[in-house]
Amino acid sequence: MKLSNHYHQLGEAFYHQGLPTPVAEPVLLLWNEKLANDLVINLSSQHDSELLAKYFSGNQLVEGSRPLSQAYSGHQFGHFNPQLGDGRAHLLGEIVDDAGQVKDIQLKGSGTSHFSRSGDGRCALGPALREFIMSEAMYALGVPTTRCLAVVATGEAVYRERPYAGAVVTRVASSHIRVGTFQYFAARKDTKSMKALVDFSCRRHFSEVNIIDADISEQDSSSQVLSFFEAVLAKQIPLVLAWMRVGFIHGVMNTDNTAISGETIDFGPCAMMNDYHRGSVFSSIDKNGRYAFGEQMTIMQWNMTRLAETLLPLLSDDQEQAIEKIEPLLAKFHQNLMRDYFIMMANKIGIETLIENDDDLITDLIELLEAEKLDYTQTFVKLTNAVINDENHHELKASLGSWFELWQQRISLDKDAAFQLMSKNNPLVIPRNHHVEAILASSQTAYQEKGNLSALNEFLAVLKQPYTQLAKTVDYQDAPSDGDENYHTFCGT
Ligand code: AMP
Ligand code: MG
Repeated sequence: MKLSNHYHQLGEAFYHQGLPTPVAEPVLLLWNEKLANDLVINLSSQHDSELLAKYFSGNQLVEGSRPLSQAYSGHQFGHFNPQLGDGRAHLLGEIVDDAGQVKDIQLKGSGTSHFSRSGDGRCALGPALREFIMSEAMYALGVPTTRCLAVVATGEAVYRERPYAGAVVTRVASSHIRVGTFQYFAARKDTKSMKALVDFSCRRHFSEVNIIDADISEQDSSSQVLSFFEAVLAKQIPLVLAWMRVGFIHGVMNTDNTAISGETIDFGPCAMMNDYHRGSVFSSIDKNGRYAFGEQMTIMQWNMTRLAETLLPLLSDDQEQAIEKIEPLLAKFHQNLMRDYFIMMANKIGIETLIENDDDLITDLIELLEAEKLDYTQTFVKLTNAVINDENHHELKASLGSWFELWQQRISLDKDAAFQLMSKNNPLVIPRNHHVEAILASSQTAYQEKGNLSALNEFLAVLKQPYTQLAKTVDYQDAPSDGDENYHTFCGT
């Protein structure tokens, strides 16, 4: 395994170089063998556990690694903070995967950096395991996401309101460039760095966008910036719609937690929706429901508008003209998002191509789900099954009334195709909050008592095949008996 350091090319305005702080007693708890293979890392937890624990705690540097912590700003719950940055993360470097894609390898919980402010730079074991479970579940559900390669226990305590076991989690991402990274340079009126960041982002993510030197042609350079922005927008649609499809609530869609690559990043306060409710929110600090389930499409547009603002100086010296250039892209983003939302929901009910009145069919269903407080995941599984057998018809008719018959008529022409489409789009199992919490509690006890993480691994095995009914799937399909009414999630743990 050998890492490269492309981010260094951007220069020191973009990061602070600094080493992870070594930990007392690193022990490898989770190793993502499949992801390691994809990254062509030829080390296994069976034979190289000690070395992996050293590498992925930060105690020993991987060949080629020149660790750094990235600078970024961000709007947190609508309020701009110009100085955030990786307060507890170190980018070890990049690796090329077996498909030729460059991926960042980043440690989180690896000690303080220039950006730590009053934080301790550490991460507790529970949130580290949670990020591993949630990101792997998202990946298997078909949601664009950052991944987890490893969780290493540090043998040190992390103090929150009481001591917890500490851990370092290794995140793999297409990049860690966030909307907040652009805001960092915009806030400093550093147009030169902005252009360098756009160029770097195009090289990394959008090779279809031609890079044009602003000194050679202002006109062409502004068309590059617009193409870049359009490419970023296109990535956010499948992201947020995949969340809406599976009932994922990100929980902290601050601009520093919005990656331009369109990957889910930052699993701190995320949760899954049970019964359909637009206002579903579990984050303890999201008192106004800014990041509630049903707000996510609107918030993504808000975040993209913030990104657009950072790009204005690259489009024209005249702000009005710059706005005129970029505004149509945001308007089109809104249209595409709404159009694709209906396509996504249509697919969930077995409709591939929308025809007249399908929008109403979808809207009516959503209203019924909300009014009848129906479990989102279970209802779509029942509808899928209802296409091929009539076991659930009575129950579905009772809750959905005449909608059920209208829908049956709509898909009657090709039931086979409808069933196939629905089976692909409606997961049988999601990482339900109550199961995740139960597994985390038992895993932490097992760790303390020097036991194994077999319960967690069994859960992961099910989550890795969410569209297939395995023998154990049924153990994790139930909705919580209390509707998770007292469930709260936390940021920055
Ligand atoms: P998050 O809520 O995880 O998106 O974090 C917001 C900001 O707080 C980022 O700049 C993090 O790097 C920083 N941060 C979160 N937890 C810690 C910590 N324990 N020590 C230092 N910085 C932290
Ligand atoms: Mg964050």
